Amino acid sequence: MTDTFSVSERSAIMSKVKGKNTKPEIALRKKLFAHGFRYRLHDNSLPGKPDIVFSKYKSVIFVHGCFWHSHGCSRCRMPKTNSSYWRTKIRKNVERDGVHIRKLKKMGWRVLVVWECSLGKMMMDKTLNAVINWLRKSRRL
Ligand SMILES: [Zn+2]
Repeated sequence: MTDTFSVSERSAIMSKVKGKNTKPEIALRKKLFAHGFRYRLHDNSLPGKPDIVFSKYKSVIFVHGCFWHSHGCSRCRMPKTNSSYWRTKIRKNVERDGVHIRKLKKMGWRVLVVWECSLGKMMMDKTLNAVINWLRKSRRL
């Protein structure tokens, strides 16, 4: 598919995709809440401002957009136009992600990355169960 947007237009469109409180993120949060988990959102005081913070479990979750954080799945197709611009931008995101995760781990937090493609209708329940198992494990520490 040809990408006919200029970089600035594309950037404006993409930033809508990138934002906090994306639909899959909200869907996951609601389900976790229904299962009794309590959390803070987008905590500024932690490296990388994690999307969901479970203080009681000393655990954080990042819900990552596949394109922005380079998941490598089918949602990551590079726009044909300005592809070097996007490649650089995304490489920087990935580097930043790594720095944040290392910092959080050093501070004693457990970190889970949930990819947006795993929060579609077909995958949601499976992902939710995996997240819940992951959270519960931390209480044994
Ligand atoms: Zn993905």
